[in-house]
Amino acid sequence: MNSSSQYIQNVVVIGKNKSSNPGQVEIHQFDSKDRLMRGLKSGGLFFGLALFSLFIPLAHFVLVPAFLIASFIAFPVAYGAKSKVMGGSSQCPDCQAIFRIEKSADQWPLEDVCSQCQSHVTIEKVTS
Ligand SMILES: [Zn+2]
Repeated sequence: MNSSSQYIQNVVVIGKNKSSNPGQVEIHQFDSKDRLMRGLKSGGLFFGLALFSLFIPLAHFVLVPAFLIASFIAFPVAYGAKSKVMGGSSQCPDCQAIFRIEKSADQWPLEDVCSQCQSHVTIEKVTS
């Protein structure tokens, strides 16, 4: 049983001169089990580094507490993320090239740069 879900979100990619193109991104919503696993994974990474640092002479005085603190910060950050933009595609509103929307945090609007014309674009959700 898995209650996490993935859905398609319609977006609009806005370039300079307010030109725009429609596009789509895939959004993955994490369930509580996913979130716990993500939290443990990123918290555990730093915890593992802390354990590893125990065996480095001298550096362990600094590294062990630093990685332990990092693991306590990383856990809630990853656990707190309820969803994530998995990426998508559109067309650049300025040069009309195929535009790949990168993976990112689910925080809108997204900002991106066209790899063809280096134009800075804003990506907004279309809610209707
Ligand atoms: Zn472009």
